[in-house]
Amino acid sequence: MLNYRNINILFFIAILMLIVVSNYYEVGIFAYLVLIAVYILLIVIGTFSIRQNFYFKSLNSGNTSKKEIALTFDDGPHPDITPEVLNLLDAYAVKATFFCIGKQVDNYKEIVKEADKRGHIIGNHSYYHGHLFDLQSSVKMTHELNQTRNSIYHAIGKMANLFRPPFGVTNPLLKIAVNNANLISIGWSIRSFDTNRSQEYVISRLKKNTHPGAIILLHDTREKVIPILKAFLPWLQQNGYLVVSLEKLLQIKAYETI
Ligand SMILES: [Zn+2]
Repeated sequence: MLNYRNINILFFIAILMLIVVSNYYEVGIFAYLVLIAVYILLIVIGTFSIRQNFYFKSLNSGNTSKKEIALTFDDGPHPDITPEVLNLLDAYAVKATFFCIGKQVDNYKEIVKEADKRGHIIGNHSYYHGHLFDLQSSVKMTHELNQTRNSIYHAIGKMANLFRPPFGVTNPLLKIAVNNANLISIGWSIRSFDTNRSQEYVISRLKKNTHPGAIILLHDTREKVIPILKAFLPWLQQNGYLVVSLEKLLQIKAYETI
């Protein structure tokens, strides 16, 4: 498996081999540069693609052949859109997971409470979701994760176990923070691109890619999620897909028992 550890071992071996070979043959600087470029490319792919489980394991889909999937909504709660999403999910008797930003939880506690009351799972998505989140020390990241956990606890009285890394970006320091905070990292198997593509594109992408065990990434921060759900939820029903909770799909506990 091409994870961070194995890539480093391979890179080390490749450099050693080049050094050994250079004792017998002429090895140009170009060979070293190519090797370094490939190494950097693999690190970048691993960092930006949570599905590779490059630095640590995230649960990205359920291990089932049944037509069961889970819906996840990131970056909320949003004061206007999240309540609309909650009503729509109720209309289709669907339970989802909301990976909330801690700051937003503090700002809109009642909405989080309502989501919990209606049977949805609340997960941790960092406190600020800053663009520089992943460049922080592991101590600062751990602090953000714990801060969010506390915000969720104050809102719903439960200690959230599930964490989705902001932007799906991972690195060795985040691995330490996730371990320190004792969280389960959740990725996705289908990214909807609902923040940057048209609703038509998103709907057709979701219909095309939905598969047994899928974890679908959506955002309850943009108005277009409503028409997307209005098209996708009935399509799931018509095609025999059952939306289940992440707890059921992944056989995990969303909250710590205290
Ligand atoms: Zn996010």
